[in-house]
Amino acid sequence: MNMIKFLGTAGARFVVMKQLRASGGLWLTLDDTTVLIDPGPGSLLRCLTSRPKLNPMDLDGIILTHRHLDHSNDINIMIEAMTNGGFKKKGIVFAPSDALEGDPVILHYIRDQVERIEPLKEKGEYTIGNISFSTPIRMKHWVETYGLNIKAASHTISLITDTDYFKGLASYFHGDILIINVVLLEEKSTIEHLCLKEAEQIIADNKPRLTILTHFGMNMVKARPGKIAEQLSKKLGVSVLAARDGMGIELDSLYQ
Ligand SMILES: [Zn+2]
Repeated sequence: MNMIKFLGTAGARFVVMKQLRASGGLWLTLDDTTVLIDPGPGSLLRCLTSRPKLNPMDLDGIILTHRHLDHSNDINIMIEAMTNGGFKKKGIVFAPSDALEGDPVILHYIRDQVERIEPLKEKGEYTIGNISFSTPIRMKHWVETYGLNIKAASHTISLITDTDYFKGLASYFHGDILIINVVLLEEKSTIEHLCLKEAEQIIADNKPRLTILTHFGMNMVKARPGKIAEQLSKKLGVSVLAARDGMGIELDSLYQ
C-alpha cells in the first residue's frame, strides 16, 4: 500500500515546545519502500502510538531536510529503532553535511548501525529501495536545507520544507502531490519561512493534483489550517488539504 502518514504537523519552536501539534515527521511508504522524513521531537512515540502501529524496523531509511531540532531531534533514537537497537545493520540515512560535521545532530557512535550515510547536496540524485529522490536546490533557510522531489513508479511527491520564498521556488518542485511547510500566517521579512500568501502563489503556479499544507506556526494553528485549506481549494480550483496529526493518506485511491 502506498501511503503518507503525518506523525506531526508542528512548525516553529513554540508550537513544537508546547506540543500544540505533534512533531514526529512524515512516514512514507511507496512501492514497498518505507522512509521517515524529519523525525522531530516525539517521532518514536508517534510511530508506536499510531493506529495501526508503525514499526520502525520496517524503515529502509531516514531523510533529514535540515538539522533544526523540530526536524532532527529523534534522528538518533529512530536510527536505533530502525536497526533493532543496532543489532541489525540496515538502512540509509540522508542528511545535509552540516548535520554530520562540526556540531553534528547524528551521533558518531550510532553511525555504524546503518548501512550507510549519504550527505545531501544541491542537485543531488539518490536512490533508496524502489524509489528515487532529488534535492534540486538549496533552500533559503538559516542552515543547509533541501526540499525533495520523490519519485516512485506510480507517484511523484514534492516536499517544500522550511525556506524563505525566492524567485522560481515553485519551478523546482513539480510533484503530483505537493507537501508544503507553511509556518507563517503573515509574512515576516526577518524569518526564513514561507507564509500563507507565498504558499498560495506556489500552488497557483504549479497546480499540483493534491497539495497538503503542514508545519504550522502559532498563528497558522490559531487561524485553523483546515478552514484555510478549504478556502484555498475554492479560490484556486485545486485540491488543498491541511495535515492533521496522525492523518494518513492512501495514495492509490487518491485520483479515482
Ligand atoms: Zn521547521
